[in-house]
Amino acid sequence: MERIAWNQYFMAQSHLLALRSTCQRLMVGATIVRDKRIIAGGYNGSVTGSKHCVDEGCYVIDGHCVRTVHAEMNALLQCAKFGVPTEGSEIYVTHFPCLQCCKALIQAGIKTVYYASDYKNHPYAVDLFAEAGIRTEQVALDAVVVDTKPQETRDLMEKVVDKLKQAGDTESLQLAEEAVSRYQLPYKEQL
Ligand SMILES: [Zn+2]
Ligand SMILES: [Zn+2]
Repeated sequence: MERIAWNQYFMAQSHLLALRSTCQRLMVGATIVRDKRIIAGGYNGSVTGSKHCVDEGCYVIDGHCVRTVHAEMNALLQCAKFGVPTEGSEIYVTHFPCLQCCKALIQAGIKTVYYASDYKNHPYAVDLFAEAGIRTEQVALDAVVVDTKPQETRDLMEKVVDKLKQAGDTESLQLAEEAVSRYQLPYKEQL
């Protein structure tokens, strides 16, 4: 079985962190990596010990929720708190960083920013990254990563695909094709 690629592994970690976000306007996760080791992670949430958007609603000023510390910032601050150098490291974020985070990432010495989705990419942030010689690269998470029983899933999906093929109508065959591709099932015969 093929091993998961590093960039998929780190991006998966950021997506997992995003699930811990306490602001539902946007759930973001960030993972700081140095020499292929995760050194910090963060998600957007309230200041420690304060109220959460998910409980109290967002605190919106000028269309932005001001309650949360952004994921990238939380990851950097975790490094500051525990004295971990960020110089020359990389960050994996689920969304393109906002202008404030962009500036913080540059100052912290991050050299590569991998992001899964574009998000209101600020032209000034794009310029600042370029000016600082920081590489930005879109890395979409394309693997179904967190499945604790992958073999069971594949066995089940193979049965489902067989049934769909037997049904034989266009929609079923299309679904079968999607399942084969998504779950990386062996082609028993050409669909
Ligand atoms: Zn909020
Ligand atoms: Zn931000």
